[in-house]
Amino acid sequence: MSESETRPSNFIRQIIDKDLADGKHSSVQTRFPPEPNGYLHIGHAKSICLNFGIAQDYKGSCNLRFDDTNPEKEDIEYVDSIKSDVKWLGFDWAGEIRYSSNYFDQLHGFAVELISKGLAYVEELSADDIRAYRGTLNEVGKNSPYRDRSVEENLALFEKMRNGEFKEGTACLRAKIDMSSSFMVLRDPVLYRVRFATHHQTGDKWCIYPMYDFTHCISDALEGITHSICTLEFQDNRRLYDWVLENITIDCQPHQYEFSRLNLEYTLMSKRKLSQLVTENLVNGWDDPRMPTVSGLRRRGFTSASIREFCKRIGVTKQENTIEMGSLESCIRDDLNENAPRAMAVLDPIKVIIENFEQDKVETLNIKNHPNKPEMGEREVPFTREIYIEREDFREEANKKFKRLVLDKEVRLRGSYVIKAVRADKDEAGNVTTIYCTYDPQTLGKNPEDGRKVKGVIHWVSAVKGIPAEIRLYDRLFTVPNPSAEEDFSAVLNPESLKVLNGIVEPSLQSAQAEAGFQFERTGYFCVDNKDSTPNTLVFNRTVGLRDTWAKIGD
Ligand code: ATP
Ligand code: MG
Repeated sequence: MSESETRPSNFIRQIIDKDLADGKHSSVQTRFPPEPNGYLHIGHAKSICLNFGIAQDYKGSCNLRFDDTNPEKEDIEYVDSIKSDVKWLGFDWAGEIRYSSNYFDQLHGFAVELISKGLAYVEELSADDIRAYRGTLNEVGKNSPYRDRSVEENLALFEKMRNGEFKEGTACLRAKIDMSSSFMVLRDPVLYRVRFATHHQTGDKWCIYPMYDFTHCISDALEGITHSICTLEFQDNRRLYDWVLENITIDCQPHQYEFSRLNLEYTLMSKRKLSQLVTENLVNGWDDPRMPTVSGLRRRGFTSASIREFCKRIGVTKQENTIEMGSLESCIRDDLNENAPRAMAVLDPIKVIIENFEQDKVETLNIKNHPNKPEMGEREVPFTREIYIEREDFREEANKKFKRLVLDKEVRLRGSYVIKAVRADKDEAGNVTTIYCTYDPQTLGKNPEDGRKVKGVIHWVSAVKGIPAEIRLYDRLFTVPNPSAEEDFSAVLNPESLKVLNGIVEPSLQSAQAEAGFQFERTGYFCVDNKDSTPNTLVFNRTVGLRDTWAKIGD
């Protein structure tokens, strides 16, 4: 693992340090509150590493709480995937999983408390009228004609809402704050609305559901959260967060802190848009290896350590910015360069026949799994008269810069002998079909004795012992750095984002486990696909190339 052991420092941790030093808190309690309306993406991973990381480092605890107040958009499939992604990222939540819906009874009680204090009222304006009355940033709002109903009337109407006597959209509960506030969120925000929807946790018990702003602060307080960390778009909502907690009878006052969201180039970072890619079949599901989802990155071959390392490297600030894809890739490249065993795979095979090598002989070569790590051991690689090499590694003629196989010239086969190309067969279209070579039996593990210099080294796989494998080459999903700025992001999808090749891999890969990562010599880092690969049909996904091909220079 390339993660450094040092604790990250950021403005939130500085606040916590101060709160602990001042005795404001004696321990730290955080939470990660996803809405189960999609799979987690790398932006969520940033929030997970922040919230769970703080709990770990300060010996506090972090709750996993499903913010489940929108039954129509939510699904148990998402609940399950979120749990599994958090665990895979290496974190564990304190105690039971929490659901905002666990608090529906208490939330209802607090709503009744606000009504009783004259701080909330039942609204019967239409949604359009509510919007029109709200005003704009430059224009104050207008009070609703229903704003001054008596407490008794409001209590009775709220009870009717709860009993299903109002149709959806005909009534809602609003906080009575200030229709001329410069913070739009304080212009009598809606606290409860009517929804006749079956909820994945509470079934048909409720036909009124609390809004996010009302639910979130109360859930935090009920759980004793000390530092409620969220992204910057909720900055203004902090006024409402505080207003609710100040006006109900609850003895905990968590404080909300905001940091900037992660944005990543060439991809999208919104569950709504990612969901659109899935439902319109523009990708193959939430865990498509081109998706920026945790499950997609995992399937692509990212390790959880590399994602944690990425979150550490990007840090936590209040500045809006967009991270280059190369930063994410360099984290997995560093990890795999250090930890992934090497193997040989030919992605676009062309046959080589070594004419002076005995027919039917199988010579077993022992090749190191890692050039700098003897502790990773060796593997057996069979060498035979017929092998495959990469089509692009052969030319009939070439200048000195081409250090691969050329007619009449020598090249070393990785971990094996030096061979020389003698002649090549071609098909009618002029494509090379077979290359005939000779090998020098004196060159296994040593240079030719007469001092001939052989500079090039190419990879290869035995044609008789090698195993066919499907190789999936992934590239960025979009052709522009900021697809969300497009009117229609599906118009800027990269048509080359997936190329499927029929390759040949060395036999040691037959037993590779799902998600195992390898450096295929000279071609990149690959992993065993965790869904489609079977012992009969191996499937490898390219995680990332050996070098940064995203770098801006020469782009
Ligand atoms: P999306 O816009 O993708 O739907 P969201 O904020 O609505 O994201 P939630 O399920 O509400 O998704 O998010 C759970 C937590 O993850 C929140 O605290 C949110 O602030 C955080 N989060 C979401 N997206 C990002 C991001 N891009 N960077 C950092 N944190 C994020
Ligand atoms: Mg949300």
